[in-house]
Amino acid sequence: MYALPELSYGYDALEPHVSREALELHHGAHHAAYVKGANDTLDKLEDARRERAFEHIGQLEKSLAFNVAGHVLHSLLWKNLTPGGGDLPSGEVAAALKKDFGSFDAFKEQLTAAAAAVQGSGWAAMSWEPLGRRLLVEQVYDHQGNTGNATVPILAVDMWEHAYYLQFRNKKAEWLEAFWQLVNWTDVAQRLTKVRKTDIGL
Ligand code: MN
Repeated sequence: MYALPELSYGYDALEPHVSREALELHHGAHHAAYVKGANDTLDKLEDARRERAFEHIGQLEKSLAFNVAGHVLHSLLWKNLTPGGGDLPSGEVAAALKKDFGSFDAFKEQLTAAAAAVQGSGWAAMSWEPLGRRLLVEQVYDHQGNTGNATVPILAVDMWEHAYYLQFRNKKAEWLEAFWQLVNWTDVAQRLTKVRKTDIGL
């Protein structure tokens, strides 16, 4: 069963960029709902297998992808943020961004543009693409659409309205500015080092 991860910081630790109320609601209600949705869907799939009753299989598989991907992306988001974050990446991350996007600024501009241009609900992510062994920016529909099959997200920003509306109303650009003030580049660097060691055999 999936479980809601605890945050490594308090609900007020990301203020003023993310308010206590916004973080409490986002983690304790929205993220928790995806965890519950994933577990409920696994239960229903187990029932369907036992009863050999697959008439709702399409809806169940969609629900599984939506909720598991929602759980994954939110778990990543909390680790991608830290009080006193922001600044600039260094070392391996800085070198990879320069290689794959030309410069940090060009990368930041692309991720910000991809995030701001999300239609409806979605995310923008910087992901490792293991076949080309490079970083890509992906614009994610809902939680699970429009991404490459083997890509691994390492830095993600939530562009669902629940991520910003409480604090920033319709001003998406202000939420994105707040996000960049909180990025935990140490976490991103650890993820990049780890994922680079993965060989998917393709
Ligand atoms: Mn969210």
